[in-house]
Amino acid sequence: MNEVAFQELNQALSDPKKIVITTHRNPDGDAYGSSLGLYWFLNQLGHEVTIVSPNDCPGFLKWMPGQADIEIFESAPEKCTKILREAEMVFTLDYNAFHRLGEIMEPVMSTISPVFVMIDHHQEPDDFAQFSFVDPAMSSTSEMIYQFIQRMGKKELVEKNIATCLYAGILTDTGSFRFPATTSDTHRVVANLLERGANNSDIYNRIHDVNTYNRMQLLGKALNNMVVLERFHTAYITLSQNELNRYKFQRGDTEGFVNYALSLKNVMFAAIFIEDKKQKIIKISFRSVGDFSVNEFARQHFNGGGHINAAGGRSTLSLKETVNKFVDILPGLTDELTLSQ
Ligand code: 5GP
Ligand code: MN
Repeated sequence: MNEVAFQELNQALSDPKKIVITTHRNPDGDAYGSSLGLYWFLNQLGHEVTIVSPNDCPGFLKWMPGQADIEIFESAPEKCTKILREAEMVFTLDYNAFHRLGEIMEPVMSTISPVFVMIDHHQEPDDFAQFSFVDPAMSSTSEMIYQFIQRMGKKELVEKNIATCLYAGILTDTGSFRFPATTSDTHRVVANLLERGANNSDIYNRIHDVNTYNRMQLLGKALNNMVVLERFHTAYITLSQNELNRYKFQRGDTEGFVNYALSLKNVMFAAIFIEDKKQKIIKISFRSVGDFSVNEFARQHFNGGGHINAAGGRSTLSLKETVNKFVDILPGLTDELTLSQ
């Protein structure tokens, strides 16, 4: 988005509007962090703002300022449809294609015609937004919201709620500042957020110190199920619905499991396959280190996408068939999986 577009958007936001902020299905820390950060900002400008999320967030995010006010499309489809139809402006945060909203919310979003503003850091955005602030090099959408506020000339409006939500989003999407997309600019933004009232250790503890005994047992099972394919520098984990049930799986429990596979010495490509009998799919997370693009891999083979080193996808085959399909693709990638190491 160039300066002219920023000025145009600033102008459009200079009188009160009905605004809806949306984010992707299975919202993560960055999805809610960026949405709530923008929510508190637009509230201060005097707009009527509602956040609509396709479904609920994991328990480890249920402390974020404003989180309880978020409307969940899945729980109140009629109310949310009405809110979306009446919106003058709709922000799409941390996603760039309507299919990321899931089957129930996608048809509504595809048939409304407000001014769409996309703020996102994923690759290959769909072309539906009048205003697009898109940068795949950014650590997180939350970092972009800070840049957005700054470029709107409203940095002084960043207060404790905004700072807290944006900090939480950056923290989670950068894997606590360790992923390569974390830049000196990210740290400068974070420094500003600390000065504006974000409490770094409190936020870290709220997100991470929420382990349950069942989750730890599920992690044990996942690690036990891990398979290493040394020839392809690849490791993968499976979790069946029965295994998830045995340990009373709660949304968010498998967050970060795939990173254990990736942390193995000599492994540069990792995956986790999680059976979801209710949705009748296998949900997959892919991770890589180095140049091997899991975004392309997920797009090509598993109906997904994401970033170079972190992507997701899905399969409608059985768990076993999905894993077989995955393993069968690897011999064709021998060069990529060795050269870029
Ligand atoms: P995760 O594996 O943590 O669910 O997702 C990793 C990254 O891939 C995130 O940036 C997420 O937005 C993206 N992603 C996850 N699942 C999908 C999917 O089914 N389709 C697309 N296009 N991106 C996904
Ligand atoms: Mn993100």
